[in-house]
Amino acid sequence: MKLRKSMGSADKSAAASGFVALGISDHTLNALDRMGYEEPTAVQRDTIPKSLAGQDLVVMSRTGTGKTAAFGIPMVETIDPERREVQALALAPTRELAVQVEKELSKIGAGKKLGTQCIYGGDSMGAQIDGIRSGVQIVAGTPGRVLDHLRRGTLCLDAVSLLVLDEADKMLDMGFAQEMAEIMEFIPEKHQTLLFSATIPTAIRGLIYHYLVDPEWILLSEDFAYVTAVRHAYVITPQMEKEQALYQLIEYDQPASSMIFCNTRSEVRGVAGFLVRKGLPVAMISSDLTQKRREQVMSQFRDGTIRHLVATDVAARGIDVEDLSHVFIFSTPGSPELYIHRAGRTGRKGKSGDVISLVAATDLVSFNRLAKRYHLELHEQSVPTDVAIRERRNDRILQRIEQASAKMPAFDIEELGSVVEALVVHPNRRQMLSYLIRNDFTRIEVVDDGNAELGDHVGQTRPLSQKQGSRRRSHSRRHGGAIKKKGPSKDD
Ligand code: AMP
Repeated sequence: MKLRKSMGSADKSAAASGFVALGISDHTLNALDRMGYEEPTAVQRDTIPKSLAGQDLVVMSRTGTGKTAAFGIPMVETIDPERREVQALALAPTRELAVQVEKELSKIGAGKKLGTQCIYGGDSMGAQIDGIRSGVQIVAGTPGRVLDHLRRGTLCLDAVSLLVLDEADKMLDMGFAQEMAEIMEFIPEKHQTLLFSATIPTAIRGLIYHYLVDPEWILLSEDFAYVTAVRHAYVITPQMEKEQALYQLIEYDQPASSMIFCNTRSEVRGVAGFLVRKGLPVAMISSDLTQKRREQVMSQFRDGTIRHLVATDVAARGIDVEDLSHVFIFSTPGSPELYIHRAGRTGRKGKSGDVISLVAATDLVSFNRLAKRYHLELHEQSVPTDVAIRERRNDRILQRIEQASAKMPAFDIEELGSVVEALVVHPNRRQMLSYLIRNDFTRIEVVDDGNAELGDHVGQTRPLSQKQGSRRRSHSRRHGGAIKKKGPSKDD
């Protein structure tokens, strides 16, 4: 994204005026004015007031959106210029980013005459120590070198009240988790953390739950591509019929792998029990499970023996699955952020995915709120009927027979020609053909669920009666915004 810079000659009261509403001091407004920043960018507008209020934040934002100033402005604002000690630390994964961040922080902090120091490997230790000793209030650096200084006692973080983790996903990718954990030991327990990350993979979630206190999530629409890459659908169904609706959706779509999210443990037990009784390869993940059983379930999930996991958000935290073809949201989560967490288990690594919410009348208000909050493009779909499920299963079997037979050599077809002709007119042909289909097309792997990109999900083998459906689009209809309740439902 390109950001417009002012010409630098604007009159002071008018320049940076867009920032005035964010409650920023005159010193910092002057600095922003000198930098040519007139209007806050979207991420700045969302982040600055919340950060100034002392809130821990998770901000999904990429480089180029103005994210450095989004944390730099509140950082500078919280620092006491009279105290010549390090009060804020920004960690970044690379030397280049650390340098860039420090430069921007020093410009924003110039209004309050704050000192900044950049700390990264490959640069002279001595020069960095001199910088720190000069009484800087802000340090930006890479985890490895920051830790180096901490261990040597050449950097003290006892006065730090604000910690920024910039490009946190990259820091984890680059193997800085251990260093980051050690650095935390040097920071006073009471501090504010702002975490910036372009993506929120599972590892980041661990970090968030560990280090941030009740964080608020700031997701800009252009910044959560992973959530927009998936298809968000919903089915309106009475509370009492949700389990059956879920079963029908599974039978219709035949997901290669799915997670089913519930709000409570008793719901998890109920849903898992229902689906197991229907004969689906389902297990629940709950904190009641022993470690051994949990590992067993996960290994069966990975090898495809189990294809659906039912869990609460808490139970799902500890498990490392994020490459699912489907996420079913059995009960609408209490907060919009949780929806994004749940949805984020699918559509990873450029793959597509389906998130299907079962929405009862009681869920409508919260579901509408989260749809609006994230500008989700929602697709309403109906619960597939038994007829639709059967038709889909038939299509699937025919498609499989067609695909398998396409490779058959012509001479085999020729040779079997007379027996085929006899079979199609045979009085017992229904039974005989059923026998062939059952034997040959019920015990093969369901590799292709209609989504080629998900081909590495190998489905498991199940009897014909349980093997139906595949992906569809036809019975769903596009829906671009808030939803309305469709007719009366039992749980009114
Ligand atoms: P960042 O995402 O922090 O790497 O910022 C991208 C670019 O936008 C940098 O060159 C910043 O100097 C510039 N920038 C950040 N905030 C503003 C703003 N409010 N107005 C104009 N330019 C900005």
